[in-house]
Amino acid sequence: MTSDEDTASGTPRVVVVGGGFAGFQAARSLARRMGDAVDIVLVSPTNYFLYLPLLPEVAAGILEPRRISVALAAALPACVRHAPGEVDELDLDGHRIGWLDPEGVHHETTFDRLVIAAGSVHKVLPVPGVTEYAQGFRGVPEALYLRDHLIRQVELAAMCDDPDERAARLTVVVVGGGYTGTEVTAQGFLFTRELAASRGLAEVPRWVLVSRGELLSGLDPHLGRNADRVLRERGVDVRTHEEVDEATGDGVCLSSSGEHVPTRTLLWCVGVRPDPLIDDLGVEVEQGRMVVDTHLRVPGHPHVFACGDAAAVPDRARPGEYTAMTAQHAERQGRLAGRNVAASLGHGRSKAYKHRDLGFVVDLGGYDAAANPLGLKFTGVPAHVVARGYHLLAMPGNRVRTAVDWLLDAALPRQTAQLGLVRSPAVPLDSASPEVPQHGLGFPHATDQSSSRATFPPRPGGSAEAASPEASPETSSEAPSDAPSSPRGAR
Ligand SMILES: Cc1cc2nc3c(=O)[nH]c(=O)nc-3n(C[C@H](O)[C@H](O)[C@H](O)COP(=O)(O)OP(=O)(O)OC[C@H]3O[C@@H](n4cnc5c(N)ncnc54)[C@H](O)[C@@H]3O)c2cc1C
Repeated sequence: MTSDEDTASGTPRVVVVGGGFAGFQAARSLARRMGDAVDIVLVSPTNYFLYLPLLPEVAAGILEPRRISVALAAALPACVRHAPGEVDELDLDGHRIGWLDPEGVHHETTFDRLVIAAGSVHKVLPVPGVTEYAQGFRGVPEALYLRDHLIRQVELAAMCDDPDERAARLTVVVVGGGYTGTEVTAQGFLFTRELAASRGLAEVPRWVLVSRGELLSGLDPHLGRNADRVLRERGVDVRTHEEVDEATGDGVCLSSSGEHVPTRTLLWCVGVRPDPLIDDLGVEVEQGRMVVDTHLRVPGHPHVFACGDAAAVPDRARPGEYTAMTAQHAERQGRLAGRNVAASLGHGRSKAYKHRDLGFVVDLGGYDAAANPLGLKFTGVPAHVVARGYHLLAMPGNRVRTAVDWLLDAALPRQTAQLGLVRSPAVPLDSASPEVPQHGLGFPHATDQSSSRATFPPRPGGSAEAASPEASPETSSEAPSDAPSSPRGAR
């Protein structure tokens, strides 16, 4: 079966699921190779590419969220069409895909090739109280919520006579010593320290970083060692080989020491698992990721490709292992997926994936960082310069604005207005879509089956319309519901 509308005019349709590192690059490289010879539809709930490695700087008030959110329309070739929505139906054999748009309307279309690049979501371990009391850190809403929450805690502490409550409000527990937990702690500590001083508090906020292993384990030990040293020298309470047993409304219990740490802020950065979209596809998965061959094809489905965090890609640089869930791999795999899709449509030659790590940068806030580009080891200011230079080069847009924000941050005090636009129930930890706030639909939306479905338009200049609802009467058109209120709302 082939796609309906554009195939009628001889143009194959390629649908890309996800507009992150992998999906963005896949669409871009395919468009550059095939131009108007292909109809590319990118389905993603947000209309921007999010440069995740700088998200901790948004939470710390250094960067405005739009700096790291690059509009897809501005950065992708004009021939790529963005369909706003979340894919909720995938029929790999039938070449059909369906998604729910932000107003609750269901769309469907067919495809000739599919690229699955849906990324990952928080890994929620079965630790009592965590789903209710912890916050994740994977999207702009969570970063904005955290920034406001930290400001609120410091300001409430400044007005509080009870020393126990003040201490709890000035304590932040971060669980997970990977790059997310380490960078958020590094940036967040400096932010709250300055904030507390500006609000007249004599106490320095306490940040506890809980990690099951060493910090940044899995990366070059040089990075973890330096991060550990810098954080401890600043006064961060780094607890390696420690875990959280339970979270409650007034704190967390640590398992090895048995200590109860009173806090109003628990950040859960224990890692990620692939997007739940993959769970029901009936394909081979490895640790939740779709298994693909070295050409990024899904076995048994030669028209389906997967890349990035969502895909288990054999790592030819480390035989027997799968590539790590990093931006570096996702970006390169996306680019290759674009190339291989084009090859499968008769444009160019397919290639196998192979990429050796070029190094990693870890920004620790202030002028501290650790980096190992091409195996060279940097710390302090040189690493900080390498890290910022790397980020500017790697971002697909907004570079000047980002650099200007950095200059302003070096010269001026941070802005600490608390806008309160994202509330706690909008950022539940257990969410399939951490990139969008979960507070229902912004517009009145259709509730009956017939009016909540829409046809998918052909691209301008294409022929006939796309898949009609009648083509697949069983498919559902459920609108997303409001997320349940979380006890964090009371914090
Ligand atoms: C805070 C943080 C800091 C990080 N720092 C680094 C770093 O310094 N270096 C590094 O190498 N890596 C870092 N990473 C990891 C890196 O960001 C990921 O490995 C990378 O984003 C994976 O790219 P991806 O395209 O697979 O997924 P993503 O970039 O997450 O993109 C997934 C896309 O799929 C979309 N999507 C999801 N579900 C659906 C659906 N059902 N329908 C349609 N679209 C969907 C999402 O909206 C998103 O657009 C960091 C991650 C985080 C969270």
